[in-house]
Amino acid sequence: MGGENISKINSFRIIGQGINNFLYPLKFLSLMNFLEIESRWQRFWDEKKLFKVKGDRKKFYVLEMFPYPSGDLHMGHLKNYAIGDVVARIKFMEGYDVLHPMGFDAFGLPAENAAINYNIHPREWTYKNINIFRQTLKKAGISYDWEREIITCEPNYYKWTQWLFLLLYKRKLAYRKKEFVHYCENCKTVLANEQVIDGKCERCKRPVVKKEFEQWFFKITDYAERLLKDLDKLRGKWPDNVIKQQENWIGRSEGTIVKFKYRDIFLEVFTTRVDTIYGVSFISIAPEHPILNEILKYSNNKSEIENYIRIALNKSEIERKTQKKKTGIFTYEYAIHPLTNEKIPIFVADYVLYDYGTGIVMGVPAHDQRDYEFAKIFNLEIKPVIRPANGDIEDIIKEKAFEEYGILINSYEFNNLNSETAIIEITKKLQDLGLGKKAINYRLRDWLISRQRYWGCPIPIVYCDNCGIVEIPENELPVLLPEKLEVWKPIGGYSPLENDIDFVWTNCPKCRGKAKRETDTMDTFVDSSWYFLRFIDPHNNNEIVNKELERKFMPVDLYIGGVEHATKHLIYARFIYKVLYDEGIVNYDEPFENLFTQGLVLKKFYWDPINYKTVDEEFVIEKNGKFYHKETGIELEEKVEMMSKSRGNIVPLSNFLEENGSDVARIAILFAAPPEQNFEWTNSIVNSAKRFLTRVLNLYQNLEFNEEFEDKKLLSFVHKKIKEVREDISKFKFNTVIAKLMEFLNFLEDYERKKTVQYKFALKIFSILLAPFAPHISEEIYHKLGYENSVFENRFPDYDENYIIEEEVEIPVQINGKFRGVIKVPINSDEEKAFEILKNSEIYEKYLKGRNIVKRIFVLNRMLSIVVK
Ligand SMILES: [Zn+2]
Ligand SMILES: [Zn+2]
Repeated sequence: MGGENISKINSFRIIGQGINNFLYPLKFLSLMNFLEIESRWQRFWDEKKLFKVKGDRKKFYVLEMFPYPSGDLHMGHLKNYAIGDVVARIKFMEGYDVLHPMGFDAFGLPAENAAINYNIHPREWTYKNINIFRQTLKKAGISYDWEREIITCEPNYYKWTQWLFLLLYKRKLAYRKKEFVHYCENCKTVLANEQVIDGKCERCKRPVVKKEFEQWFFKITDYAERLLKDLDKLRGKWPDNVIKQQENWIGRSEGTIVKFKYRDIFLEVFTTRVDTIYGVSFISIAPEHPILNEILKYSNNKSEIENYIRIALNKSEIERKTQKKKTGIFTYEYAIHPLTNEKIPIFVADYVLYDYGTGIVMGVPAHDQRDYEFAKIFNLEIKPVIRPANGDIEDIIKEKAFEEYGILINSYEFNNLNSETAIIEITKKLQDLGLGKKAINYRLRDWLISRQRYWGCPIPIVYCDNCGIVEIPENELPVLLPEKLEVWKPIGGYSPLENDIDFVWTNCPKCRGKAKRETDTMDTFVDSSWYFLRFIDPHNNNEIVNKELERKFMPVDLYIGGVEHATKHLIYARFIYKVLYDEGIVNYDEPFENLFTQGLVLKKFYWDPINYKTVDEEFVIEKNGKFYHKETGIELEEKVEMMSKSRGNIVPLSNFLEENGSDVARIAILFAAPPEQNFEWTNSIVNSAKRFLTRVLNLYQNLEFNEEFEDKKLLSFVHKKIKEVREDISKFKFNTVIAKLMEFLNFLEDYERKKTVQYKFALKIFSILLAPFAPHISEEIYHKLGYENSVFENRFPDYDENYIIEEEVEIPVQINGKFRGVIKVPINSDEEKAFEILKNSEIYEKYLKGRNIVKRIFVLNRMLSIVVK
């Protein structure tokens, strides 16, 4: 958590204290009221089938990222769903045909691990959690159309995940390759590049190593350029930081491929600095590079090299990138420099990463710091070929590499060119020689999708001795994951499905001979790369989605989720969607029109830095602003972090709902901070929300309306609030909407003619404006006014500018220092507006007409002073 978050929290605290000043003598309604009200209106909505897709209006598809059903749903989750629910309900009230579905991302490693711990089947564990999640979400009253629920581990869903795999296979976008890949020895499975964070396993946070496996890949690199270019379609509609992260992840760079001849083959290097090519004094190759097999044939220190490679591959990527002393080994083999024909020594070095460029680096010690450090260790020549415009290159390279652009030296016919020109000219020359070309490199790698795990979607492929790799025909899908399997324990290196002989051995769909099934399962990110499409037509057994329905409902108009998905899920989903577009299955090539990334819900906890654990609040005592363990006396650290199981600072949603109801939770979350910001969950925000909603309920008790009376001020106030609420909603400022509704409530409470029909109108508008935010209580108060339909069957109110009476202030006008009268202006008018009004006044006629104004001084709502000649 950086400083930024803390300042946000502080600014929130100030708001929070603000609400507490509303302290108000309350007849607290009992808790039972909230809970009874909520379940009653949930039944009402269900019976009315209020939130089902109607099919006859303009659509709006709002979707929150679906959860992985593990652990407890907590306030962080609710924030995600509450934001989506507010939008869904507003759009519903604006007359849209709203699609707002929910489902479960149900395959995955945690189910398997939990199953091992508790000795139950992963399916049982998963469905138990799904039932709890569903119940909790229903209790929260989120307006989902539950008839559309999808569960990714259901055969009627994963049939289409398998179909998708076959589509990619058909389009040559799924392929099998033996390669060194990231492997987590703790989770006993391979990981995609995207699942390795700072060299560590995303799930268990342990360093990962490299192992060689035959694996399935999706060729996402074929789409690199489009994934990058089409970000332009999302600019302004997706958060800038997500777009930036995707750009960096795709990582496009322009440069040159240079070919160094080695015996009968070429070692290809990608460089963005071909202007430094005359400074090459060695070549180094990543230890996992397959070309090493070729070099090892000739190298006279083969076993030492193999040993070096083995050690290097057991290091984590982060270790390789950050180790203080570069390591490497000379192969005693040489390549030929393409321009000078010099012999260049070849090294294996683990600071070269196979994932970047070609996995082979041309070492230019004078102009690359890592190469410089490597050259120092192995006593290689440091030959300057670029000089700075000012300063002495020889002096610089005594200390470090000179990495900037400059003027070429020691470079034959290219001497005296600047770097930019030299890059173009040298590339041309290499191209003429057939030893290089201009090239574009992407950091993006193909997506490794096979996992040696049980609880995932089976890959619909068999291996036949006669026919090779054979895909399962579409009409035989799904390939069912065997359920009877008793052994889920990972065996390391291959899938537990290998244990199920009946599953493994089958007949080849082509020749009907004996064939062995693929036993790896798919990365769960494949399951979630297309689920949003299935919600449109979840029960279709004949096709992945009906085209007509797809045309009506896609793309998702608003997708809401955590920013941590910026590079994984959100890149995979865009890729898969483009493949579906190319196949003509969908009508547009971006799945998510708008993206909203919500902030986190943080919670304070006390950390015991000696025993590395969180201490329960009841054991914490405070002394002079410091915190100690009541029994051990250990000084504790007070921390505010995102809710997480490992920190023990979760506020479980189901408990909270049982104690306080859903509307309290929603108002607390939405009022605490703007939705995109982090905020700290405290008792004080919960109490504020409770107090507010209790006051709302109290206001609507014992109502009676029998007076006719027109109050222009009341009408003006109501229309003004509608206007403000609408403006804030359009900017996603839900916290200030609630602040305005609190002002509205104050006004209604203090209003003097509570028996008038116009006051009833004000109460009705208030109930409708509050409805998307506190739906249950709004339905309750709306019915207290005597209405029988749902509050959501009202159009979300619009304001009429004509009703809004602008409040005016009188401001004194001074001319050359003398008071000359006052003008009436709308409150908070700016200088231009005030001057315009002055121009139409008597003061202007009398003192200013035809005179030369040299200066105006304006103080908001206070004074207008004019100097004339
Ligand atoms: Zn792991
Ligand atoms: Zn066959």
